[in-house]
Amino acid sequence: MSTPVVGRFAPSPSGYMHLGNLLAMLLAWLDCRALGGEMVFRMEDLDPARSKPAYRDAMAADLRWLGLDWDRGWPEDGGYAQSERRALYEEAFQSLAARGLVYPCYCRRSERLAAASAPHPGEREHDGGCRCAELTEAARAALDFSRSPAWKLRAPDETIMIHDGHYGPFTQNPARDIGDFIIRRADGVYAYQLAVSVDDMLMGVTRVVRGRDLLSSAPRQKWLIETLGGAAPAYCHCPLLTGGAGKLSKRLGSLSTETLRREYRGEEIVGRLAFLCGLTDRDAPVSARELVSAFSWEKIEKEDIPLK
Ligand code: GLU
Repeated sequence: MSTPVVGRFAPSPSGYMHLGNLLAMLLAWLDCRALGGEMVFRMEDLDPARSKPAYRDAMAADLRWLGLDWDRGWPEDGGYAQSERRALYEEAFQSLAARGLVYPCYCRRSERLAAASAPHPGEREHDGGCRCAELTEAARAALDFSRSPAWKLRAPDETIMIHDGHYGPFTQNPARDIGDFIIRRADGVYAYQLAVSVDDMLMGVTRVVRGRDLLSSAPRQKWLIETLGGAAPAYCHCPLLTGGAGKLSKRLGSLSTETLRREYRGEEIVGRLAFLCGLTDRDAPVSARELVSAFSWEKIEKEDIPLK
């Protein structure tokens, strides 16, 4: 029997969504529905300080407005918000720790790194200069007195290849290209890389569709899932929307969906996004459902898309 197709929406409620997020959500939904798959909605509210209930509610409203539905998940079903899943992250963390794959990091810099959020462009990830991996047990014990550490994963020193469904083969050696990375912050909040891997694995996700700014996270996530005993999903990254030159594009690009929802019908936005990414050849209102049968990654732009 073949594995059922499971796609996911995984927004972070640290702000209102913008058009770029909506494009990724639309493509995730089309990819999943075109394969007859089941869609899961996971709320990525890992960081209590940055997540706001108003943003969480807006996300569900945005998806409904665009005509993108889901079969299980937030808010109808329990256990689909990351804030409710700490025990599962703890279990995965302990399993990595039992294999000697994690170590405490006492650098102040670790606290500043926003490890609970997905890394987005321009953010420096390589934490050069940290020597905590080399601390002796005695030095750790002494430091433990004064402060609680963040926990880092020893990045695997091996070439990991993913076959991205849109961008093709992508290789990375995490030890060389990224360095050891935080999987639990000093305040106990689990980091994005760990949480997203555990969730995709336990929720049975088989297709991850998201913006290509997260392509460089995919090899680490594949490695984490496989190390935890799961099967990694297929990854399909999509182009990002960039600010265009025209007045309308500037306005549209800067508007949050809270405002867009008041001013436009969902079908107008779906039509605009489908046209911009290459799925349709004219900018006209269309329902997401109508796009399913003709959906193909071959039609989708690879370059980032300036708003027109
Ligand atoms: N929650 C992440 C974000 O909104 C996306 C995570 C993912 O798709 O892996 O940036």
